[in-house]
Amino acid sequence: MPPTDCVQPKTPPVRADLLPYGRQAINEDDIAAVVVALRSPMITTGEMVPAFEEAIAETSGAAHGVAVSSGTAALHAAMHALDIGLQDEVIVPTITFAASANAVVYQGGVPIFADVDADTLLLDPSDVERRITPRTKAILAVDYAGQPCDYDALRSIADKHSLTLVADACHAIGGAYKNRPVGSLADLSTFSFHPVKHITTGEGGMVVTDNQPWAERMRRFRNHGITVDYQQRQREGSWFYAIAELGFNYRITDIQCALGLSQLSKLDGWIRRRQAIAQRYHAALADMTSVKQLHCSADVSHAYHLYVVQLETDYCPLSRAEVFAALRNEGIGVNVHYIPVHLHPYYQEQFGCRPGDCPVAENAYERMLSLPMFPAMTDDDVADVIEALNKAVG
Ligand SMILES: *Cc1c(COP(=O)(O)O)cnc(C)c1O
Repeated sequence: MPPTDCVQPKTPPVRADLLPYGRQAINEDDIAAVVVALRSPMITTGEMVPAFEEAIAETSGAAHGVAVSSGTAALHAAMHALDIGLQDEVIVPTITFAASANAVVYQGGVPIFADVDADTLLLDPSDVERRITPRTKAILAVDYAGQPCDYDALRSIADKHSLTLVADACHAIGGAYKNRPVGSLADLSTFSFHPVKHITTGEGGMVVTDNQPWAERMRRFRNHGITVDYQQRQREGSWFYAIAELGFNYRITDIQCALGLSQLSKLDGWIRRRQAIAQRYHAALADMTSVKQLHCSADVSHAYHLYVVQLETDYCPLSRAEVFAALRNEGIGVNVHYIPVHLHPYYQEQFGCRPGDCPVAENAYERMLSLPMFPAMTDDDVADVIEALNKAVG
């Protein structure tokens, strides 16, 4: 990467190659599992799909899993299961990947952006309560960076106002809140299996829930709204199918689910490795005044999809853009998660969102950076990140 104008490295970069912020780990077991699936008679809508669904549901303490083609499709299916329709409001934190809000819009609903807690960047329950109106149907909580939200607080607000509680848990599979696994904390929870997430199927996603009618509706939704699936039709020897309502092709293949099952067997070890990397970062940051870590609640097991730090503007001589450029110049693939969704042009134009709507999130956005975090990182990689940070702002 060429040096940018504002920051010229004076010494050789810490790394010659760019250390990415996240990366998948695929081994020979995974490849063998995919080969088996490729040789089987059904490479989509076969037996690997329910096998993967059951395994993820079990891991996450939910009764049902519905696998789909992406985490975004999972969010869309969840909004559909809840019958989110025209003008229905769903409260979404503004610090998230835009897909969380887009899924509400796909259904004709209105995402109402709520602010986050300054120390965790998780949905702030008191701000959620302030934004409830007679049109509010659901709260969509995001387990940002891998830390589960305060689900007891969110649940009591949801119950008080008869709202459904949905978790966008795309960052948090394998995490827990008060010893309850992520996936069992909301009425519906969604996961993503994109390569930067904890386990991957290339592209893929899942919704887990205890609610059987919702699960059935989402199975139909992922297959054009058709009421009988391929296997059911084979069993019945029938040509018949019916479009009960409008759906999509959000199916996932057996090839992907075979990879997902193989990856899932490694999830626990990977979470422990992510937590160990986080401990190393915590220890290094404790000595630095210009950068601070996010607060982690004692009630949770943090899944550390991301390791996010915030610049302390009173002590840090550089802006976030300068620190970002300096770290990239050192070969450290830092990133920013996320631009607050309400600031995107689409949301400003279509929904009248404005700067100032979520002041805590907007301030945090100016100061945030994600450091590299993935289980295959070595201790030397972690040391490189710390060295580069010290060089930039130490
Ligand atoms: C990754 C992600 C999604 C979307 O998942 P895809 O599989 O990429 O569609 C949604 N929400 C959050 C918070 C995510 O991190």
